[in-house]
Amino acid sequence: MSEPVLSIRGLERTYVTQAGSLTVLRGADLDVQPGEIVGLVGPSGSGKSSLLHAAGLLERPQGGRISILGTDCTALSERERTRVRLATIGFVYQFHHLLPEFTAEDNVALPMMIAGVEQKAARARARELLAELGLKDRAHHQPPQLSGGEQQRVAIARALANRPRLLLADEPTGNLDPATSTAVFDNLYALARSQGVAALVATHNFQLAAHMDRVFALKDGHLEPWTPESALA
Ligand code: ADP
Ligand code: MG
Repeated sequence: MSEPVLSIRGLERTYVTQAGSLTVLRGADLDVQPGEIVGLVGPSGSGKSSLLHAAGLLERPQGGRISILGTDCTALSERERTRVRLATIGFVYQFHHLLPEFTAEDNVALPMMIAGVEQKAARARARELLAELGLKDRAHHQPPQLSGGEQQRVAIARALANRPRLLLADEPTGNLDPATSTAVFDNLYALARSQGVAALVATHNFQLAAHMDRVFALKDGHLEPWTPESALA
């Protein structure tokens, strides 16, 4: 088997506040293989965002290891962790965080230009990604002129602009109505497939989860395989 894009071993996370301490991850393990789309389900507060945060190298694990493409990132310097993150990981959140003053095309092209891609090539790829998401005639609209579903599609295109190997999506359709959620999720799935990017998608929408390649549920800080049948049990 090829090397996992993301490998999580024994991940631990405890939050300490004035109200006391709360352990949300107590030894979570997960491998995401190249090109596969993995769901992460669990009720609100079960630790999905905490897990994605650690997986995205936005935070050093308190316990356990995160490896990206075979590199254990736990002991790397902050500088190295940032380099790995920028080179290999794309993020999509519940809220799109697009720059409102810029067009959809600008929003997708900018991360490529910041990474050193020449403007013309960056814009061409931005238009390609937007077209693949059905937004060909929205490329010159600014985010406030787009619907919620369209904004989220732009955010997905932006996350994939720099050809990451791993897409981390935290409730990417959590702010959309059910019909739009399904459409945007289908877009995300199809684009991740066509770009050959592996994805880890947190959602509390079981219907969407049922369409992913594999799904895991966070239970008491551990990950367990999940099936639509197990959700009904
Ligand atoms: P989910 O994404 O599944 O809703 P989270 O990872 O956001 O779960 O949160 C898991 C638990 O940890 C929740 O009870 C949440 O309140 C708590 N939590 C998350 N972030 C913090 C923080 N920075 N400080 C204290 N508690 C936190
Ligand atoms: Mg969350």
